[in-house]
Amino acid sequence: MLIRDAEVFGSGRMDVRIRGGVVTECATGLVRLPGEDEIYASGGWLLPGLHDHHIHLRSLAATYESVALGPPQVRTATEFAARLWEADRKLQPGKWIRGTGYHESVAGPLDRAVLDRLLPHRPVRVQHRTGVLWQLNSMACDLVGLDSNDASGVERDETGRPTGRLRRLDSWLGERIDSRTTDLAAVSATAAAMGVTGFTDATPGLTQGDIDRLAETVDCGRIVQRVHCMAPPEVTEPEGARCTLGPTKILLDDVDLPPFDEFADRLRAIHAAGRAVAVHCVTRVQFVLTMAALERAGVRAGDRIEHGAVIPEESLDWLRGQRVSVVTQPHFVVERGEQYRDEVPAEDLPDLWRLRSLLAAGVGVAAGSDAPFGASDPWQVVRAAVHRPPEFHAAEAVSLPTALSLFFGAPDSPATPRRITRGAVADLTLLSVPPKEAAHRLGAEIVAATIVAGDPVYRAR
Ligand SMILES: [Zn+2]
Repeated sequence: MLIRDAEVFGSGRMDVRIRGGVVTECATGLVRLPGEDEIYASGGWLLPGLHDHHIHLRSLAATYESVALGPPQVRTATEFAARLWEADRKLQPGKWIRGTGYHESVAGPLDRAVLDRLLPHRPVRVQHRTGVLWQLNSMACDLVGLDSNDASGVERDETGRPTGRLRRLDSWLGERIDSRTTDLAAVSATAAAMGVTGFTDATPGLTQGDIDRLAETVDCGRIVQRVHCMAPPEVTEPEGARCTLGPTKILLDDVDLPPFDEFADRLRAIHAAGRAVAVHCVTRVQFVLTMAALERAGVRAGDRIEHGAVIPEESLDWLRGQRVSVVTQPHFVVERGEQYRDEVPAEDLPDLWRLRSLLAAGVGVAAGSDAPFGASDPWQVVRAAVHRPPEFHAAEAVSLPTALSLFFGAPDSPATPRRITRGAVADLTLLSVPPKEAAHRLGAEIVAATIVAGDPVYRAR
């Protein structure tokens, strides 16, 4: 394939030839070879393909079949009930209602009693916006056999009866409710149209079965992007070049933090098994604990902090020195601004969702959508990184090229932006407009073509 007359990111205006999945030539005036496909870029910006470094594919697919039960779609208890009843009317009897995005600001804490009062005759599960918590009505509790489960994430009342609130039991729940029918092809096609050439699935605790199924979905072309999967150490690499394994994801929860020694030992064991770690840190205490535990266990190349929502200034040198990168969500200050204004303690505000200050300190940074917990559109992330809301330290905003670069890292090296040069893997995102115009039209509608391993997986009409 020959891409003609593109504004190649960081290199200027030229033609780009792709063969066998890699870039073979970047120069002006290349001559079309017999049988070669041609794309006329007409000065459109050609970017290294956008890789979403933190996403949850299956959960995102499930939201396509779910009802949004939190802000901004639903803000009050009345709206919550109305939306639930509407979903009930539309569904066949016996089908589950799967609600997402719930937050206590809507109708207070949810448990089986609250849900039973609203909808007792059909199984209902409602996910908290953080993704940490599922809230089930009694029929749902019965169907998944909750009463006989003694996992630590099952909340119980004083009589020992489950309240219907399940923390961190996503996989357990997934095994009991058939969620395999979810349509990953739709997620993939939507992302391709937004210029996304790869995903890193950051779902914790994926099993060999989960990974093999995902690899199969990639292999048969239902997912057209590359997929890099975070996985526990015992999972082995699936076949097929487009599906690879990444670090082991570790979740932390402020109400249930692991003892320090235990945590450091766990990190050490994962490293010893040949894996890096990706530790979920959304609070100051989670970050500080992780830093101390990594200091004790020793850092391995590829170790990363997921989110890094609160990073103290005094840690920046450590992050740079240890080459621990941060995979952040610049769009959360926009999407969750209202909540942060109300809930984030004043002392955390200066350290909230750092971006420019991390880069300025030499820390490796990449971006991920965290969809479905954040918007899946990378252009929303880029917009938020460039036009940061003034009340959340506008000084943390970055330039457009820098914001885009947060998506340029290779799956296993997220904070090192790839470049379009001879020999580079041909994962590319072509925009229909030059850089100057792109700055004014930051949205998926400017994506002209998405190319994965030299194959066009999306072309705008
Ligand atoms: Zn996540």
